[in-house]
Amino acid sequence: MREIAHFINGSSFTGASGRHGDVFNPNTGEVQARVQFASSAEMDKAVAAAAAAHVGWSATNPQRRARVMFEFKRLVEANMQDLAELLSSEHGKVIADSKGDIQRGLEVIEFACGIPHALKGEYTEGAGPGIDVYSMRQSLGVVAGITPFNFPAMIPMWMFGVAIAVGNTFILKPSEKDPSVPVRLAELMMEAGAPAGVLNVVHGDKGAVDAILQHPDIKAVSFVGSSDIAHYVYSQGTLHNKRVQAMGGAKNHGVVLPDADLDQVVKDLSGAAFGSAGERCMALPVVVPVGKTVADELRKRMIAEIETLKVGVSNDADAQYGPVVSAAHRQKIADYIQIGKDEGAELVVDGRDFKLQGYEQGFFIGPSFFDGVKPGMKTYQEEIFGPVLQMVRADNFEEALELPSSHQYGNGVAIFTRNGRAAREFAARVNVGMVGINVPIPVPVAYHTFGGWKRSAFGDTNQHGMEGLKFWTKVKTVTARWPEGMTDDSAFVIPTMK
Ligand code: NAD
Repeated sequence: MREIAHFINGSSFTGASGRHGDVFNPNTGEVQARVQFASSAEMDKAVAAAAAAHVGWSATNPQRRARVMFEFKRLVEANMQDLAELLSSEHGKVIADSKGDIQRGLEVIEFACGIPHALKGEYTEGAGPGIDVYSMRQSLGVVAGITPFNFPAMIPMWMFGVAIAVGNTFILKPSEKDPSVPVRLAELMMEAGAPAGVLNVVHGDKGAVDAILQHPDIKAVSFVGSSDIAHYVYSQGTLHNKRVQAMGGAKNHGVVLPDADLDQVVKDLSGAAFGSAGERCMALPVVVPVGKTVADELRKRMIAEIETLKVGVSNDADAQYGPVVSAAHRQKIADYIQIGKDEGAELVVDGRDFKLQGYEQGFFIGPSFFDGVKPGMKTYQEEIFGPVLQMVRADNFEEALELPSSHQYGNGVAIFTRNGRAAREFAARVNVGMVGINVPIPVPVAYHTFGGWKRSAFGDTNQHGMEGLKFWTKVKTVTARWPEGMTDDSAFVIPTMK
């Protein structure tokens, strides 16, 4: 059985905790590797390596740090096919989608290549008589990222790309379900010229997360995962005096106004609801058509579209999506579908019986489609995170606006319309962090910033872009004067600009 070890201080490190997790191939349902789980002593070792590396790395000029990012980008691109195959073999998403996962992470690395410019401070000449004021952004020290299974390349790069470029050293605790790509990324960072200890990968479950949250030398923690755990990480991390950003779950709505281009909406919805088997925090699992005419038409076209979908193994180039990540997750999705039926929604397409010939033990589930979903239902309120599309009918614009606005999650939302004024009003008033106008999955580009509202994110700063830079640095402001000889200012009254 292949063992997946930690990566500490520039090389593979075999842990001795005796604890490990199974890594499955979701296509076959077989265990293909074992990943070691760290003890707190092993976490200490990684933090000590990162702390030692911080001394030199933070003093390395930003241009040289950026050059490591340029080279890392080149190496990831050169290894794209192998990385995508490795990612798909543990996650289950199709290869083209794995390449997208890696590419969206690389775009944050591209942002990090411009860090010398982005990191420049502010300067005011002559803020007072002979007084200049300037500010600088400095790295925090050793920082950590805790990531979910669904984007094992992109989300680690969201975090370490910016954190390392600004001069921090990093502990990555990836999902234990698909830990191999994060290790490869750390190896490639070393090959790109990052000194040993700058990026360490420590595997584990709750034990490793708690070791991070309680470690006195870890200054900041970025988390992405489900909301209850995000809240736990936020509260425990801040309790231990760390800076924390913790992104949680989602339930994104797609509002369809009567004037929308329905052919386009059906294509967009299909990809956004069922792509990656619905295992995306920016998936679109809820559709809200406004008015009966558009709802009935959309329902008819959606059923026809679902019939054309091909579910297959990850390396089937014709498949639209592959298996979900685990047997337990497959069961959870199937249970939600049953709950939806029991609570009175109409199950128009039931994907539960889907089996892929030759892969009967794989974690496959077909696409499902509900109509008649109501806001009070459990299956509406909670995140299913599977290939299940739920239709909630609204009578008018205000009702459609209210649904995503009052939902517990506020990650993303989309509106489909040809009416610019309606779209503008929707974007201004909706109580959600990321909005798409005729864009089903409005994940902002790397130089903007990613983050939801309400129970989709705890903490104040978003991922990547200038918000990420702010999260991973602390600002220092210097007020300086160079008087000629003695000045006779009073030292007892606070100086003002009056
Ligand atoms: P998860 O919450 O189960 O796991 C996330 C991380 O937390 C993993 O590293 C895991 O090892 C760790 N963890 C698991 N149980 C823990 C516990 N009890 N205590 C401490 N740490 C624990 O999430 P997942 O299933 O890997 O990922 C799917 C979830 O992530 C979905 O809810 C999805 O919406 C969310 N997500 C959110 C975003 C976003 O940006 N808002 C992006 C991607 C995924």
